[in-house]
Amino acid sequence: MDLEKNIIDLLLKNPDGVTNKMLQTELSSIGVAQLVEVLNNLTAADKIQIFHKGKQLVYKMKESVAKSCRSADIEEKVIYQLTERAGNKGIWIRDLRLASNLPQTQVNKIVKSLESKKLIKSVTSVTASKKKVYMLYNIEPDRSVTGGTWYSDQEFESEFVEVLNQQCYRYLSQAKAMTDKSLDPISQRKSSFKTSEEICDHINSLKVSKVVLSMQDIETILDTLIYDGKVEKCLSPSSSDRYVYRDVKPLVTSCGLMRVPCGVCPVSEDCQEGTIISPSTCPYMKEWLDF
Ligand code: SF4
Repeated sequence: MDLEKNIIDLLLKNPDGVTNKMLQTELSSIGVAQLVEVLNNLTAADKIQIFHKGKQLVYKMKESVAKSCRSADIEEKVIYQLTERAGNKGIWIRDLRLASNLPQTQVNKIVKSLESKKLIKSVTSVTASKKKVYMLYNIEPDRSVTGGTWYSDQEFESEFVEVLNQQCYRYLSQAKAMTDKSLDPISQRKSSFKTSEEICDHINSLKVSKVVLSMQDIETILDTLIYDGKVEKCLSPSSSDRYVYRDVKPLVTSCGLMRVPCGVCPVSEDCQEGTIISPSTCPYMKEWLDF
């Protein structure tokens, strides 16, 4: 198929015709038998004509076929350029259709052809309801498309995030435990802080992740610890745009009443004794009472 495309491209570039010698020079890596087979197929498909020029055979593209090839080339170029313009965020097929003004079936065909030539690729966007977006083949998709480190095959890696969460907290707790031994409260406070760079280096050294985690990845994990009230974040004394983190004990511990499951239960309105959803059969309630 690629050889056929190469021969067609050569014929399009040479509207006055192509000789056997030209074919063999341009496609030197292809054997004569293979060339003859493709030329026979093109003749049988009524795509090319053969003429005699002196003692030589000359192959020419039929004008009607050449015209449709040229317009297909232009349409392919348009789709390619639109995809290129979309950069690493990609473009939906519907937007390709609207921007190119081509019929849907035509766009589908061109996209498939560009994909088979490895000029563009499709990526499933985790943030756009798992829709496919198209981008140039050699482009690394943006984090907003792949979901970043926390997604694998478009699925959120909750266990992986949990492990990192625990490891970050452990590192900060250990740092705090070490400094608690110091008698000087100021140096105690200072040395319990760690920069995100230090935390990132530590986590990468544990090799819990297959990919090297960036500082941005670790800062996202640290944010979850801050929201849980386990870690605090302050501006670094040595830099106005960097932060340091440390383990903190929560100021208030949640009381039993705050942990009652009914407060956040999505089916609380249907919960009644004697029905399917009831406090006496509720596993969450049982767990809370056992606690
Ligand atoms: S008892 Fe269970 S099911 Fe009923 S409201 Fe509370 S949490 Fe929800």
